Amino acid sequence: MPINHNTVTTQLYINGQYQNAVSGDTYPQYNPARPSELVGYAASATVADVDLACNAARDAMPAWSALSYQERAQYLLNIADHLVNNPEELQARARLFTREHGKILHEAHIEISRISDRFRQVASYAERLSQDETLSGPHYDTIITRQARGVAALVVPWNWPISILGAKLPQALIAGNCVVVKPSKESALVTALTVGLMAEMLPPGVINLLTGSSANIGDALLSHPAIRTINFTGSVAVGKHVMKVAADNLVPVTLELGGNDAGIVLADAKLDDAAFKRMYLAAFMSSGQICMALKRLYVHRSRYDEVVTGLTQMASAQVIGDGTLATTTMGPLNNKKQLGIVTSMIAEAKQSGCDVLELGQVPDTALYAEGYFQKPTLVLNPDLNLRVVKEEQFGPVLPIIPFDSVDEAIHFANDSEFGLCSSVWTEDRDQALRLARRLEAGYTYLNNHGPLAQDSRAPFGGHKHSGVGRNLGYEGIIEFQEMHSISASEGGLL
Ligand code: NAP
Ligand code: MG
Repeated sequence: MPINHNTVTTQLYINGQYQNAVSGDTYPQYNPARPSELVGYAASATVADVDLACNAARDAMPAWSALSYQERAQYLLNIADHLVNNPEELQARARLFTREHGKILHEAHIEISRISDRFRQVASYAERLSQDETLSGPHYDTIITRQARGVAALVVPWNWPISILGAKLPQALIAGNCVVVKPSKESALVTALTVGLMAEMLPPGVINLLTGSSANIGDALLSHPAIRTINFTGSVAVGKHVMKVAADNLVPVTLELGGNDAGIVLADAKLDDAAFKRMYLAAFMSSGQICMALKRLYVHRSRYDEVVTGLTQMASAQVIGDGTLATTTMGPLNNKKQLGIVTSMIAEAKQSGCDVLELGQVPDTALYAEGYFQKPTLVLNPDLNLRVVKEEQFGPVLPIIPFDSVDEAIHFANDSEFGLCSSVWTEDRDQALRLARRLEAGYTYLNNHGPLAQDSRAPFGGHKHSGVGRNLGYEGIIEFQEMHSISASEGGLL
């Protein structure tokens, strides 16, 4: 078994410089597949570092926001190239990502390489962003333009930190903002290295990076007077806290929060091997640690057994273990707390008496016992009040629930405080569209679900407790700007 004992130490990036925390403190990051293995140390920022980072971003604002959209787009294109121009470095960074995070190497590689596409896509909006709206008479001539909000605090969770940055960081930059990025303490090393690569390509102060625990720096960042907008991705509980703290400085917030996505399989759905593969990955990719994962599956009773059989076959073929091995298809959960949440939900489901299938192959049982592993798990026909149905699992478990009518399925799907994404599985395009329009969600996939099916040109975000505002798409850029009307008497401006 190849075990890599190499460690890295990452620094903060402030005002164009890699630097240690003012205190000199670091904290360790361990491998969730074998928690005794040290992967590296990240700088542990304190309030003094928050101040330096926020002030650097504020000082960089005038020059950065004065550039044209095309000039900023060119910076984004340079970053996009820089992030992927060294295949060996990319491979090493992906491997480090797997070791610190747990996700399999293939996913790690996808995440850190595809971020470049997000930068390119955002750059492509430069022309459209430069167009102001005009109102020509009567009485007034007015130009409706937009300006950057100011320094943006960008907070990302541990599950897909680089991709999630790709949904807010290039958008903030092209909109004219300078940023302070705060990754999760659970997955800081590769995020720090990757953000450093981006920041190196920009004038000092445009991107600043703080690693460390939110217990030390979270509120200091959110409430710093230089911060003019907060874009947060994480849990509902912390999202509510962010909104409260932001109120003190009247700072607008964009919140991308948890989900409990429902999928609805109608009686006429096409359920071949390819469909089951998509359905399986929708729920279990990244060990289920995805905000827009399929988390509740409602199946027309006439197709219920078929769906259970298809997903059982898919799950049984998975190989669970160390994500750096090419044969592994599912890694551990990222951290012990998350494992505890998931296993307690599974235990409650078992206790309720419903069938709970824990599937997949475990070639190394000693490793499985040591790391934060959970096999892919199907919970059949559970009581609808169980936590595994009502709460966000954020782990490799999927409840499968039969329904008898379309109205019942819609009721089940919408009967939740969450409203991130959803899916409808059917061959009937018109019926799919009718259902989709009734689902309370920011995004509905047809015959698919999750990040592999997402159109990143479309705005993304949640209804209800799943969030406030939108990331991605053109709308995700405007989210970082304020409207600005410039007006004169008729004939005086246009
Ligand atoms: P979390 O506990 O809410 O943490 C998210 C981020 O916020 C981390 O960087 C965390 O830092 C930071 N944070 C915590 N308290 C803070 C404070 N007072 N001030 C500033 N920052 C603070 O969420 P998580 O456990 O990392 O991530 C899982 C959750 O994220 C799930 O609910 C998932 O659905 C959601 N998520 C949503 C989306 C979406 O787009 N809607 C995408 C991915 C994940 P520390 O780690 O240092 O505490
Ligand atoms: Mg957390």
